[in-house]
Amino acid sequence: MSELMSVDDAVQRVLSRIRALPSEEIGLVDALGRVLAEDVIAEENIPPFANSSMDGYAVRSADLAGASWEHPVRLAVVDDIAAGRVSDRTIGAGETARIMTGAPLPPGADAVVQVELTDATWTRDDTASVMASVGILHSTSTGDNVREAGEDMRAGQVVLHAGTVLRPQDMGVLVSLGHTHVRVVRQPRVAIIATGDELVDMGQPLGPGQIRNSNSYVVAGLVEQLGGVPIRLPIAGDQLDAVRERFVEALTAQPDLIISTAGVSVGAHDLVRTVIEELGELSLWRVNLRPGKPLAYGHVRGVPFFGLPGNPVSTMVTFDLFVRPALLKQAGRPITVPVAKVIVNEEMEFDGRETYMRVTLREQDGALIAETTGTQSSGALLSMVVADGLLIVPAGVKHVAAGTELSVRLLRA
Ligand code: AMP
Ligand code: MG
Repeated sequence: MSELMSVDDAVQRVLSRIRALPSEEIGLVDALGRVLAEDVIAEENIPPFANSSMDGYAVRSADLAGASWEHPVRLAVVDDIAAGRVSDRTIGAGETARIMTGAPLPPGADAVVQVELTDATWTRDDTASVMASVGILHSTSTGDNVREAGEDMRAGQVVLHAGTVLRPQDMGVLVSLGHTHVRVVRQPRVAIIATGDELVDMGQPLGPGQIRNSNSYVVAGLVEQLGGVPIRLPIAGDQLDAVRERFVEALTAQPDLIISTAGVSVGAHDLVRTVIEELGELSLWRVNLRPGKPLAYGHVRGVPFFGLPGNPVSTMVTFDLFVRPALLKQAGRPITVPVAKVIVNEEMEFDGRETYMRVTLREQDGALIAETTGTQSSGALLSMVVADGLLIVPAGVKHVAAGTELSVRLLRA
């Protein structure tokens, strides 16, 4: 087994062999949460035409110099322009057209005066008989209450960048620009294998010495949160044949990544490494990390493989540190880590390994205060329910005084 490796080194080694997945074209209606594979450039102006941002009157601003409540300027109403209708009647000197929000500005007009600044009183059924003239009670300037063509998006502008996780507003932009389909990065398919003779699946009665397989469901959830497609395989018992069979089965699902939990330590029944060495290549890394056992990383018939420790908290922490960046890279997403600065509220001792300690966070005088969740047993899954984050104690640090500032990986970003 190799010497102690830093967490950063391990992450870099993993990432050096992970590639972004190819893209695919999908219908826009299915694209929420998917990752944009390429920049989107506006091919047209949005809005496509200058239009009114108010219900009111399209005017020539030069006509209204000095207009006021005391001295209204009277204009002849020559047209009535509802949204969706294009008027070809040029507004001449002393003329105006009634106009609705979103309607194209008629030729000749350069501004809109909202109805509240006129003497017009509109009623529901006056569309047929628009008043012959209107008194304008306020002066205006060119461009007032007009949304210019391209005000929102200009033709040629990059409006969305590759790597964007599509949100509703991003989809709205694509629809506005006339797209019906969008090119996204294919979702990583992740095969998940739980190993261990002590495991029974969800809903099954527990025999003596048995526990339920929670890891498969936790890992599947983590995969889904990152935009991957989890493929949960049945539990593999601690027999060479069972483990081998499960990995072969995983390969038939054509995964982009394979994750197993447990079975990679030096315990007598740890068979995962034997099987991976048969089917591909495996490195066992002793990462300078707590919690965490040896991390198994390798390739099975070319598919990247992670063998995570079986203890539920270790599973989650090693997933977060090593699998997450790999998945983000495959999914074409930026590899960012949600961190915040926190103040540690009490004196603490550590063993010098890079430690991820479950903490709750509270705000006090504008600072975030981190407090241990209590037991840091790597089997205590409930501590991950309670925790707001993982306090990062850097390698080499054995003593942390109360009031020390450290970073925390946020679990509820
Ligand atoms: P191992 O890595 O096989 O030594 O397992 C370490 C610990 O994690 C043991 O206490 C196992 O019972 C527990 N464990 C292993 N796999 C799972 C699982 N799928 N769900 C919950 N706990 C597990
Ligand atoms: Mg085991």
